[in-house]
Amino acid sequence: MVARQLLDTVEYKGKLPNYASGANRRRVLNIICKGACRGKTRWAEMEVDYPGREKLRQAQVDDYIAHCLYCGWEAPDPYNWTR
Ligand SMILES: [Zn+2]
Repeated sequence: MVARQLLDTVEYKGKLPNYASGANRRRVLNIICKGACRGKTRWAEMEVDYPGREKLRQAQVDDYIAHCLYCGWEAPDPYNWTR
């Protein structure tokens, strides 16, 4: 479990689409964008480093903010945020 949490917090090393290629890889994750992307899954960047799957799962509205790297929409709640 500890090892898994450590893995969760490291830089994202997978592929990113062009619109997200300049993002901070410690902070990127997928959100469902309800802004101009109208419900599409988009890469977003958090205001803080990725806290790990477990913390994210327990987070409440306003604990974290992420903005869509495609349209700039700011996600106020951490639901359905995945990596
Ligand atoms: Zn968007």
